[in-house]
Amino acid sequence: SGGGIVAYADSSRAEEASEPSEQVAPRKKKVVVLGTGWAGTSFLKNLDCSRYDVKVISPRNYFAFTPLLPSVTCGTVEARSIVEPIRRMFEKKKKDVTYYEAECFKIDATKKAVHCRSAVGTNLDGNGDFLVDYDYLVVALGATVNTFNTPGVMEHCYFLKEVEDAQKIRRSVVDCFEKASLPNISEEEKRKILHFVIIGGGPTGVEFAAELHDFLVEDLVKIYPAIQEFVKITIIQSGEHILNMFDQRIAEFAETKFLRDGIEVCTGFRVVNVSDDLITMKSKSAGSEISVPYGMAVWSAGIGTRPVTVDFMHQIGQAKRRSLETNEWLRVRECDSVYAIGDCASISQRKIMEDISTIFKIADKDNSGTLTLKEIYDILEDICIRYPQVELYMKSMHMLDIAQLIESAIGDSHKESMVVDIEEFKKALGHVDSQVKSVPATAQVAAQQGYYLADCFNKMDYCKDHPEGPLRMTGSAAGHHNFRPFRYKHLGQFAPLGGEQAAAELPGDWVSMGHSTQWLWYSVYASKQVSWRTRVLVVSDWTRRFIFGRDSSR
Ligand code: FAD
Ligand code: MG
Ligand code: MG
Ligand code: MG
Ligand code: MG
Repeated sequence: SGGGIVAYADSSRAEEASEPSEQVAPRKKKVVVLGTGWAGTSFLKNLDCSRYDVKVISPRNYFAFTPLLPSVTCGTVEARSIVEPIRRMFEKKKKDVTYYEAECFKIDATKKAVHCRSAVGTNLDGNGDFLVDYDYLVVALGATVNTFNTPGVMEHCYFLKEVEDAQKIRRSVVDCFEKASLPNISEEEKRKILHFVIIGGGPTGVEFAAELHDFLVEDLVKIYPAIQEFVKITIIQSGEHILNMFDQRIAEFAETKFLRDGIEVCTGFRVVNVSDDLITMKSKSAGSEISVPYGMAVWSAGIGTRPVTVDFMHQIGQAKRRSLETNEWLRVRECDSVYAIGDCASISQRKIMEDISTIFKIADKDNSGTLTLKEIYDILEDICIRYPQVELYMKSMHMLDIAQLIESAIGDSHKESMVVDIEEFKKALGHVDSQVKSVPATAQVAAQQGYYLADCFNKMDYCKDHPEGPLRMTGSAAGHHNFRPFRYKHLGQFAPLGGEQAAAELPGDWVSMGHSTQWLWYSVYASKQVSWRTRVLVVSDWTRRFIFGRDSSR
């Protein structure tokens, strides 16, 4: 079962015992971190690096503030303003961390080592391969694009995942305008060249469409007045609505705004083929196919698994999955010493029904074979920590109290001095597991996971000394953990919609839309910048754009 930090506490104890002298300071454990994105940097920022021998491997020697990537595509913000060099980050925080600019291409969990390849090729034999071994591995590799094997997408579409992608898009947009301005181009050809298609109506696609529209109406129409009438933006979305992970009100607000702006939103269409000048899509309801000519296409329809992650998943028997499965303490299942955080990972929440008999036994302190309400209350806090679905279920049923849940399952007759047997207990909690929720692939989740895992690493000594920890519940149901499982705290999300308008969904079902929300967005994103340097750069980019407009050169 389980096995978060405590499992290591046991194995490291064994190692220490075999060391020759008690006086010799034990060798620092080697921690290797793969990736310097949201999850990796958040882990490193919170990790007490003096306790470990820390090595970081990533092919990009900077952290990128991805929420502002769509702004880079049209020059609202400069690429330089949203990246922070990773070495500067360590130096500023006085962290003793070794960084290698390289790509990990294979994780060897049996040998506890990762195979890496430098982009520059530094070895004498001309290849830059090297091996790094670890005691603990933190996989924070993020995700890659997912084309769902749609023919032509890789060859003809742009993506919006990395800083380079945003810069490529920026050049391509300007290219299209220059191309359409050349002499001897027919009107039909101009319409084709200036048809910008975005595939995927999630937050990234929608924000890019909004950015592009602003760029057109605020800047490009002034410098390319002759061709403005030929410009068209289309969003193709397979679902019924764009922004379907947001509140319905936000989706409707966005769709109405786009309609007014002249951005076409094609919902219920799946793209089936992309050639160099045609996008073919299939109507999900009618089944018919249509092809539209286009000048530039951006694919932002879902995330996929990196090859190195896929290879690792094959090694550890997770081949059928789309991301690395971890337990609630973020440790990779069936894989000692390896943790996974961020977009490359997903937590599988343990079902309460798998442990129901054990929980019953632990709660039944007097071994009476039945539980009183008091016996249930005594263990309730531990249950809610271990199985957050209990609280979610009660909330979804508008129940304030576990007694209500039990009463509703077994009838009113027990009200006075309620006792439940195992069958009744099972019945009461029978539907709770339907509320198990997966965390989304967002920066917010990645950052919280990195922070949490570093906390676990920092407290590993405490865990060694207190194997049972602060949790009262023991046995297999508790999984012998002494540290609370990771719990995601949703702080809300923004959807910038262009024209100085945004929509936001904040905790407590609070939805806000319009111009004031855009100002909230500016202030939140300015405050979230990783350093004062990038904060100043971003804010001055915004200011420059307000005063002078965007830079439309390549
Ligand atoms: P990443 O941040 O992608 O980091 C992965 C790291 O691994 C990178 O440093 C990469 O260089 C490195 N790496 C890759 N391959 C290897 C290898 N083989 N070996 C070693 N290292 C490797 N989320 C929000 O919450 N709010 C938003 O507004 C938002 N906007 C977004 C806008 C865009 C355009 C995009 C693309 C994403 C946005 N996201 C947003 C999602 C967010 O960026 C991701 O959820 C987040 O980056 C996940 O963090 P991560 O650390 O798992 O992965
Ligand atoms: Mg990362
Ligand atoms: Mg990142
Ligand atoms: Mg994840
Ligand atoms: Mg009892």
